[in-house]
Amino acid sequence: MAVVYLSLGSNIGDRVGYIQQAVKLLQVGGNVNPVRFSTLYETEPWGNKHQEWFLNAVVEAKTILSPVELLHHCQDIEQKLGRVREGVPHWGQRTVDIDILLYNNDIIDLPELTIPHKHMHKRAFVLVPLLELIPLFKHPVTGKTMSELHDELAQPEDVFLYGTIGV
Ligand code: ADP
Ligand code: MG
Repeated sequence: MAVVYLSLGSNIGDRVGYIQQAVKLLQVGGNVNPVRFSTLYETEPWGNKHQEWFLNAVVEAKTILSPVELLHHCQDIEQKLGRVREGVPHWGQRTVDIDILLYNNDIIDLPELTIPHKHMHKRAFVLVPLLELIPLFKHPVTGKTMSELHDELAQPEDVFLYGTIGV
């Protein structure tokens, strides 16, 4: 059994609904069991600014899936919820994006999967929710706590409280 942190984001249509559906679909089959949820935040697009603002949250969950199985489970859900990758620029709009931030203390470097997520330490939209859940957890590669990583953000994108996930 692993403890994992997943980032959920949406910036098209019924953003809250997509995030809620993603949480429900994660649990199908009993393979991913959410334990705690961060607050939901409304966030300025990161990387590619010319798009709608996102809603983002982080889910703490227990899973029996391996890291690669978990990635495929998340990608299946993205597809089910209508995410279109073709023709959409990198870091572009999406109905739902599910990223694996942390998988226990593991360090994984595969062509399709990097854990800890390779951009997590640069993203306020990930670090702010993580501060609610695991402020003192040390990033497995850098050894810095989530709180220290957040303090080190030079020009964090805007992140506003939005509400609870409501699942
Ligand atoms: P982003 O999440 O950076 O906006 P995508 O969701 O389009 O971009 O993901 C691009 C690729 O990132 C996926 O095809 C996936 O194989 C890869 N990837 C690598 N590490 C991870 C991770 N930790 N979580 C999710 N996807 C990852
Ligand atoms: Mg992604």
